[in-house]
Amino acid sequence: MSSVTLPRTGVFVGGDWQAATGDGADEVVNPATEELLATVPRGGAADGEAVISAARRAFDEGPWPAMPGAERAAHLRRLRDELAARAGQLTDLLVSEVGSTYALAASQHVSLPIEQLDYWTTVAARPDLIAHAPRVARRSGGTSWLGSWVVRREPVGVVAALIAYNSPFLLAVMKLGPALAAGNTVVLKPSPYTPLTSFVIAEAVAASDLPPGVVNVLTGGADVGQQLSTDPRVDLVTFTGSDTVGAAIAAQAAPTLKRVVLELGGKSAMIVRSDADLDQAARLGLQSITFTAGQGCALTTRHIVHRSVIDDYQQKLGALASAVRVGDPARPETQMGPLIRPTAVERTARYVEGAIEAGAILVAGGKRPSEPPKGYFFEPTVLGEVDSSWSVAQDEIFGPVAVTIAFDDDDEAVRIANDSRYGLDGAVVSRDAGTAFELACRLRAGGVAINGGAGWTNPGVPFGGYKRSGLGRENGEEGLNHYTELKTIKYHAG
Ligand code: NAD
Repeated sequence: MSSVTLPRTGVFVGGDWQAATGDGADEVVNPATEELLATVPRGGAADGEAVISAARRAFDEGPWPAMPGAERAAHLRRLRDELAARAGQLTDLLVSEVGSTYALAASQHVSLPIEQLDYWTTVAARPDLIAHAPRVARRSGGTSWLGSWVVRREPVGVVAALIAYNSPFLLAVMKLGPALAAGNTVVLKPSPYTPLTSFVIAEAVAASDLPPGVVNVLTGGADVGQQLSTDPRVDLVTFTGSDTVGAAIAAQAAPTLKRVVLELGGKSAMIVRSDADLDQAARLGLQSITFTAGQGCALTTRHIVHRSVIDDYQQKLGALASAVRVGDPARPETQMGPLIRPTAVERTARYVEGAIEAGAILVAGGKRPSEPPKGYFFEPTVLGEVDSSWSVAQDEIFGPVAVTIAFDDDDEAVRIANDSRYGLDGAVVSRDAGTAFELACRLRAGGVAINGGAGWTNPGVPFGGYKRSGLGRENGEEGLNHYTELKTIKYHAG
């Protein structure tokens, strides 16, 4: 990896940079080396006030919300090009601040969101008026009216976008794309662990010709997040993070009746039927452990496997997990990087120890690896003979741990899969496509991948969760609708 080019830091407000005025600073640490990557001054209440005012002004007085869609699309295209020109820097930063492997950072965490901006550019250009067919209405006295309706899509207003640490650039773009396409103005607040790519977004915004105040970036923690989700001048909070904080944000936003979109945690299930290709199933199972070291909301870490094949499955998955090269993600041979902070390693270890005490068998991993000597690493871990009721099978660990649970028939597989307070994603592995589809329909989850899914993340289809995994959807028409108000204008001819 080339040396990392750090972006400018501060508060990006109304198209300009200001020094942050909060208390202290956040240390951005490379979780693979424990080296200090950057010290980022923390945004405070005065900065929150400034970004909200700037976004409000840009919405109420600026050209952005009323701009014709085609013009807005041209601005978005320029922003997309400015981000694409920074793809190398973004990738290096994600490797260093998140600990993503280089290949994953370059593809899923950088190229994918830039491609998604192409989709939102197309959406921005679409007409904002939806005409309805006219109707003749008979009136008393024998006359009649020819009347009709036109529905106008309008932006909601000022959007506060609050995001999690694990894939900051993708999560930011998933919110900026539809918010800007619909004509809203935005305040983006990244996680204090991984703020650096949001500053690159600010630099790209500054270099593109978006009107001042359309995108603002503020750092800080829960206090700033609270300010953004309680201030009456913010119209919509779109949040990606844990269910606990999501519930707090819903409560914080309630007194001002803000719109709220919540993309929260998960503990998704993968059903492996007896007719599955077990090599394929084990490869998919491995991804659920190693993808950003298990720090992914939609990972299917509960492997619900038919009793007749569970031993073979565990043996195959265990062999793959044990062969994973764990280490510094900046090295090309590394297949899995670190967790974000020591607390995440400790939490993961606690879940593994608790499961073993309760009677689980350790199929692979289970501890911090002896190498590398520094960094917040944990081995890819597989636990067998787990009961669905145990906390290791119910809680989101957000570490590289999968559990296997046996089932005897499809009904039982569905019951175990749905035995969760979450419902973000799911998977079915089977050579019987029809049955796999029927099982997918019975899972209480916002998405289900059959035999690995479509091979491409389509920004035109909705993403989001049932139950405690969220409220609303991102992407596609449904995602866009959260960022628009609908106005029905009624009129008659003559
Ligand atoms: P987190 O919930 O701890 O923090 C997320 C953000 O919320 C941070 O920016 C934080 O500063 C802010 N915050 C904290 N308290 C707040 C408050 N009271 N009001 C407003 N903002 C507040 O999440 P995390 O540890 O950064 O990320 C991991 C979690 O995110 C996991 O649960 C994971 O599943 C979830 N996640 C979900 C998705 C999805 O699309 N569903 C995607 C990625 C991550």
